Amino acid sequence: MSESHTLHPQGVGRGSHADTTTTPTLRLTEVFFSLQGETSRAGLPTVFIRLTGCPLRCRWCDTPYSFQGGETVTLTALLAQVAAFGVPTVCVTGGEPLAQKNCLPLLVALCDNGYSVSLETSGALDVSKVDPRVSRIVDIKAPDSGEEARNRWENIAHLTPQDEIKFVLANRADYDWAREVIHAQKLAQVCPLLFSPVQGELSPASLAEWILADCLPVRLQVQLHKVLWGNTPGK
Ligand code: SF4
Repeated sequence: MSESHTLHPQGVGRGSHADTTTTPTLRLTEVFFSLQGETSRAGLPTVFIRLTGCPLRCRWCDTPYSFQGGETVTLTALLAQVAAFGVPTVCVTGGEPLAQKNCLPLLVALCDNGYSVSLETSGALDVSKVDPRVSRIVDIKAPDSGEEARNRWENIAHLTPQDEIKFVLANRADYDWAREVIHAQKLAQVCPLLFSPVQGELSPASLAEWILADCLPVRLQVQLHKVLWGNTPGK
């Protein structure tokens, strides 16, 4: 998971540990306001909720700082923290947000509060229980990630056209693998498909040429936030 530019409201949602016995809690790495850098929502001002923890270790992960640490916050305090930005679009990311059981009630609460919500998930965990109002951005891990074996292929049957599937590709072998998966599983009929090159390993221009040569029905994305701000945590 990944993202963009930061505006942290001072003090909002912090120090709110008193009510943890009566309301769900979550382990939180950061909340920040930025431009969405990926997906069909790229460029939209968005509040990001980055939950702590991930059971995967993708070789090229750009958010390892989310694996550990963070702070425990109540769902109530987190909603207040998000509301302070006054922004209608929210992305729940990580880490792997679904690794926390209280991610599901968080998503419900965000939808109930009228936000347009997306969820960025590794594709290794069950997405079927996610609130249907949420746009699920589901990775399919290519071989060079080192986590291909974690792909939960059963997820595909639960996806709808409002969801998106993302492949992060490190080289030509990853690309060929992804192309075969798309054809074999007829993924273009499921939802929009996203191809991202691993920064510093595969040039976006090369990936673009391969996509055009194969006339592949995918969207190339170059992580807008990294174009704007580089690979800075919390941006
Ligand atoms: S699933 Fe996402 S957060 Fe977890 S290791 Fe892979 S890229 Fe990093």
